[in-house]
Amino acid sequence: MDARSTRALKQRLESLADAGVTSLPRAGRRPHDAGAMPVAEAVPAQPPAAGPQTAAGGPSHALAILRQQVADCTRCPELAAARTQTVFGVGDPAARLCFFGEAPGADEDATGEPFVGRAGQLLTKIIEACTLSRDQVYILNVLKCRPPGNRTPEADEVANCRGFFERQFEAIAPEFICCLGTTAAHALLQTNEPIGKLRRRWFTYGTAQVICTYHPSYLLRNPAAKKDVWEDMKTLMERMGVRL
Ligand code: URA
Repeated sequence: MDARSTRALKQRLESLADAGVTSLPRAGRRPHDAGAMPVAEAVPAQPPAAGPQTAAGGPSHALAILRQQVADCTRCPELAAARTQTVFGVGDPAARLCFFGEAPGADEDATGEPFVGRAGQLLTKIIEACTLSRDQVYILNVLKCRPPGNRTPEADEVANCRGFFERQFEAIAPEFICCLGTTAAHALLQTNEPIGKLRRRWFTYGTAQVICTYHPSYLLRNPAAKKDVWEDMKTLMERMGVRL
């Protein structure tokens, strides 16, 4: 192997380790047995509210209309006054898989794209460790505006944004949703169960199968939990039919 290939391989292995990948499958073997996870779970999620935006023109058209409505929104006066811009979502409008986070931080507020700061870079590594790219999935948040000081979103702010994320999911119609952390899981599944209890179970939201895992920001503070997230990703990829 030449020096360039060795360097590329080293970078790839470092990225996988950062993402929490604990082992690599041997060539020709199925890497993971997800059999320990229950096949089905209770279905607490509400079906998404129907909106006239999704009637015609496909997901890209519906998302473009919604994006403008989000940009014009001033329902949360504190957030609207403080934001640089709204942060709508990014990725494939017809993605099979959506990653659902909490709210923009400073970097996302500055760029208008979700998950581009430190937590976002870790999410990107996790997606790539799953052999996918950001372009192949869709990434969105519960809130479209940055809460001041990155505080946790208030219940009324989540309620104000609910119609937006519900209509995003309606437009994209993903097969799978991965909730990143407590705020996303609670908003989507309308439960108050702790994230640790929501992991390792399957839920449904509309026609999507939903899995919950820890938020990448939590992983930055608690790197030991990366292995748990990698277990969740292996379970998700197994059900999606993505070979790792
Ligand atoms: N955390 C989130 O939940 N979303 C982002 O976009 C960035 C950080």
